[in-house]
Amino acid sequence: MKNNKPEKCILAIGAHPDDLEFGCPVMVNNLIREGYAAYYVILTNGENGCKKKVKTVNDRISIRKKEQLAAAKKIGVKKVYFFGEKDGFLEYKETIRKKLTLLIKALKPELVFSFDPANQEFTSINLFHRDHRTSALLTFDAVFAAKNEFIYPHKNGLHKVEKMYFFGTNNPNYFLDISGKIDFKLDVLSSYKSQFPDFPNFASFFKENLISRHPDYEFSEAFRIMDIVQISF
Ligand SMILES: [Zn+2]
Repeated sequence: MKNNKPEKCILAIGAHPDDLEFGCPVMVNNLIREGYAAYYVILTNGENGCKKKVKTVNDRISIRKKEQLAAAKKIGVKKVYFFGEKDGFLEYKETIRKKLTLLIKALKPELVFSFDPANQEFTSINLFHRDHRTSALLTFDAVFAAKNEFIYPHKNGLHKVEKMYFFGTNNPNYFLDISGKIDFKLDVLSSYKSQFPDFPNFASFFKENLISRHPDYEFSEAFRIMDIVQISF
């Protein structure tokens, strides 16, 4: 090995503050309990999804950042990287793919979490938000670029991610039973006071409509897990 791996870790990439708390907080918390360090990237500021009436853009950015940090703290995330892109306008830019690739090369995560780039069914106006679609493509392409020495060179060399965990997927192949952790997930989501002014109302809606996707589990987190086959010769 050219470089010693500093720690066993995962990297989860969302478009907005709260994406990762809807998608994978229990899975990430479980992995932290297993000994992984967890890092987050939030690509946009989330300023245009802020439902609280706040006058300035900077105030909305600040509120959403604080809420994301509070939620990440409850999960046990080691660090949150805010990329500062404009909410609702996320573009597929090489500058962003480069930043993601270099972060993957620096952190060397075994697992990377993101929205599912294979979701192209446009069945939900929220799930198929432009920023979600774009973040999924950027992450997928950054994972490829990270295993290449030359696309975006880094002093740590290349890095091969082992698996991608896609949340918000229409084609899950793995369900994590979170029936005993639903209160934890709701507590994490309650960090987003600007998004859910009437949290009890949201919580009952969430429980009734959004989580139960597996016949054996009352509540679950659903993923499409992709093993990345690495060929070395
Ligand atoms: Zn979102």
